[in-house]
Amino acid sequence: QNLNYNLRQNYNKSSLQYLVLKPYREELKATIKSRGIKPKLVGFLANEDPAAVKYAESTSKTCEETGVTFELRKCDKEQLEDQIVEANEDDSIHGIMIYYPVFGDRQDQYLQNVVSASKDVEGLCHKYIYNMYHNKRYLDEKQTKKCIIPCTPLAIVKVLEYVGVYNSVLPYGDRLHGRVITIINRSEIVGRPLAALLANDGGKVYSVDINNIQEFHRGTGLKLKKHEVRDTNLKIEEILPFSDVVVTGVPTPSYKVPTDLLRDGVVAINFSAFKNFNDNIKEKASIYVPAVGKVTIAMLERNLLRLYDYHNYQS
Ligand code: NAD
Repeated sequence: QNLNYNLRQNYNKSSLQYLVLKPYREELKATIKSRGIKPKLVGFLANEDPAAVKYAESTSKTCEETGVTFELRKCDKEQLEDQIVEANEDDSIHGIMIYYPVFGDRQDQYLQNVVSASKDVEGLCHKYIYNMYHNKRYLDEKQTKKCIIPCTPLAIVKVLEYVGVYNSVLPYGDRLHGRVITIINRSEIVGRPLAALLANDGGKVYSVDINNIQEFHRGTGLKLKKHEVRDTNLKIEEILPFSDVVVTGVPTPSYKVPTDLLRDGVVAINFSAFKNFNDNIKEKASIYVPAVGKVTIAMLERNLLRLYDYHNYQS
């Protein structure tokens, strides 16, 4: 298999993003067709952010291809809360998402919790986030309903599974044992949940933000059931050389990870709208993934189908 995906920016049928999402998309398409169902997703756009508009267009196109009914509702940010409440109560809607940022502050976190958990395809409401941080993987005692995981962190997990960073020989839940992963971003939407997910799966994760570096881990021999977090005095220059994976999400065009500090053969993943790796990343990385947005949409749709089934077919 040709693993030379370096610097391939366009979404085409040989890009790594496409290879990762393909089985999910095909399964979803086949399920929707064979069961004759019509899951409906509503996206709320209350900003003019070009990245959000692009994301909304991309969601619409993908939904059309897979058989999901997608409706984009544009509104004023002051009307958004009422519109979400209305959509929560509308039985014809199975999933709701919001294109962030809306207010760009803590009010966005409030809006995440206005979305009903039964329709939260992004997995950002308190219930799902809490379960994820506590490594609680099911919603019910009988373990029939898997928790909804935030979709961008989940997309990155799927990329890491695909490229073999997850060791499938190890038991489920421990498959990152021995891996060292650096994540440069600790936002509540992506970086912090991702650090927790990867540490819960057994990885040693360095979570870097503008202020400090924290280590997320389950202890030597994975003796802890869920991850714990501690501050570290290590500097980024010290952790990059022994990181097997570096994931970046710094939202500024000027930020670049110094290629010379990276391990030879590193797996490098960028989810920022800006390129956080220099072009010479191809000289060091065994795998370079410049964006994960398409995989994120596949995970959104997967979460939508799950919520549809939880609502319609299970107690
Ligand atoms: P945010 O502003 O909430 O968080 C940015 C994070 O980067 C913070 O933790 C901050 O401390 C850290 N940071 C900033 N400068 C830094 C520096 N110099 N060194 C180390 N850390 C630094 O942003 P966000 O919502 O997490 O989004 C980040 C980027 O990811 C944006 O470009 C956004 O468009 C993109 N994004 C992509 C997807 C996707 O592809 N699916 C999803 C969500 C966000």
